[in-house]
Amino acid sequence: MGRQRRLCQICKQKGQRRESVVYMKEHRLALCEEHFKEWFERRVRETIKEFKMFKPSERVLVAVSGGKDSQTLWFVLNKLGYDADGFFIDLGIGDYSEESKQKVLELGKILGKEPKIVKLEQELGAPLPVVQNLVMGSACSVCGRIKRYHFNKVARELGYRVVATGHNLDDEASSLLANVVNWNVKYLARKYPVLPEEKGFPRKVKPLVKLTEEQIRLYADLSGIPYTDRSCPMGDTANLHFYKGIMEQIENHARGTKYRFYFEYLKKIFPIFNSLKEELVKGELRRCTVCGEPSPSEVCFVCKLRERIKEKSPS
Ligand code: AMP
Ligand code: ZN
Ligand code: ZN
Repeated sequence: MGRQRRLCQICKQKGQRRESVVYMKEHRLALCEEHFKEWFERRVRETIKEFKMFKPSERVLVAVSGGKDSQTLWFVLNKLGYDADGFFIDLGIGDYSEESKQKVLELGKILGKEPKIVKLEQELGAPLPVVQNLVMGSACSVCGRIKRYHFNKVARELGYRVVATGHNLDDEASSLLANVVNWNVKYLARKYPVLPEEKGFPRKVKPLVKLTEEQIRLYADLSGIPYTDRSCPMGDTANLHFYKGIMEQIENHARGTKYRFYFEYLKKIFPIFNSLKEELVKGELRRCTVCGEPSPSEVCFVCKLRERIKEKSPS
């Protein structure tokens, strides 16, 4: 993307001269503010239809983190007329969680919708920094599991069959790259912009997969969407940034590769891995005997955590 002084190509077709706010090299397209917003919204709508993510009649639960991607997703789904509600998990990571929550509440006001907020401390008995000290594994992997558990649980409790997250093209292409480099076939067998409803899980959808981080930031800024740019102070994002950097280098070398890498994977390779899913993703899911959520073990990861926190805390 660039901001050279070019004229909007759509306005030009209509015989008008309007300066562009963006030039998207990979699409060879210069657009003014109005036509960029229109292009962006159309791309989201097309993605939802192409991957059969949800129908206009279905209620969608949007997992919002307060960051630009998920905030934009919540905003744009409402703008497109979908029945989309926001859901925020307050992880209790000091100022970071507080500021994120404020942004979610601010956007809720703009949309006229009260977001659903779940406080981890209430759910588990401790905030994430305390939980982290009790378990093995990186903060991000523990946090990811806890978040996914709550997406499922809250969706089921509130009667939503669809959960949407803000993952964008940069997220998906760089994580595909990292998983290909490491031949993480289990992951590759499940990497798709829509995961069907199954075994007690709601459908999971990623309507922003055709949009880059830069395009989303521009749309958010032009539309006055509140968001925080802070990254989580507990996260070890070095690996993620490394693969994003490599992907960007490849993209700069040959425009359009990022998109092709991801979408050609979905078309040509994903079906092969997915047909082997039963073999690759072993382990039957059953119901956790404590909370009833789907789990590979008798008692699920989150219920075990809750027990451990109870044991550790002074009574
Ligand atoms: P991340 O793994 O942090 O990049 O987040 C991926 C997606 O998960 C975001 O786009 C959001 O849709 C969702 N998400 C992340 N953090 C939260 C949170 N604290 N509460 C609700 N949803 C979240
Ligand atoms: Zn225009
Ligand atoms: Zn459980």
